[in-house]
Amino acid sequence: MTRIGEEIEKFRSLLPQGTELVAVSKFHPVESIAEAYAAGQRVFGESRVQELLQKIPLLPSDIRWHFIGHLQTNKVRQIIGKTALIESVDSEKLLDLIDSESRRAGTTTGVLMQLHVAEEETKFGFTPEELLDYFSSRKFENLTNTHIYGVMGMASNTSDQNRIRADFAAIAATAGRIRQICPDLRGFDTISMGMSGDWAIAIEEGSTLVRVGTAIFGNRNY
Ligand SMILES: *Cc1c(COP(=O)(O)O)cnc(C)c1O
Repeated sequence: MTRIGEEIEKFRSLLPQGTELVAVSKFHPVESIAEAYAAGQRVFGESRVQELLQKIPLLPSDIRWHFIGHLQTNKVRQIIGKTALIESVDSEKLLDLIDSESRRAGTTTGVLMQLHVAEEETKFGFTPEELLDYFSSRKFENLTNTHIYGVMGMASNTSDQNRIRADFAAIAATAGRIRQICPDLRGFDTISMGMSGDWAIAIEEGSTLVRVGTAIFGNRNY
């Protein structure tokens, strides 16, 4: 068993039932992904379209790819039909484009809505208010070829554990409010939060999907 394989096994034993692991392989070579795959990992996360498209044909076809980076509208068409989940929908414009491109391609795309609760202004995503407005106005009913499975978010980049916990609690609370506002929304039950440094807190606050890169694959060479 390789070191990467051991990390995968470790996470599998640590994560509670009902929590899924996305192995974030961005900036890591296909050889590293193959090691994780050999240890049984099937869900991988990438944040750049070109890198994802290069890796897909080099790896087994039963891998479920999650796109987790900021998706530019001019690249949407290239990844439709290639991902199991686009976790990083950060605007209505992007969502509508994913929907129209999915219709054009004759497929349905699963997405998460990205929430911005962190203190950094550079992060993408809807504020909780914007997302609650979106669901209150039931705009999702216009989507024909997109299924919204839940929310994704990041905590502030800080060592302040209380702030991190509060950010995750805000993400989970927003998902809960959306379920209250739209009790008929089907399959809206994914809360993607938690990375290498904060996944344990995220799980305590209700995460169902953790996105872990560095703790599995080591440091990235940008
Ligand atoms: C890179 C990235 C991760 C993984 O971060 P690590 O700290 O390496 O675990 C998780 N989520 C998103 C959105 C990322 O861009």
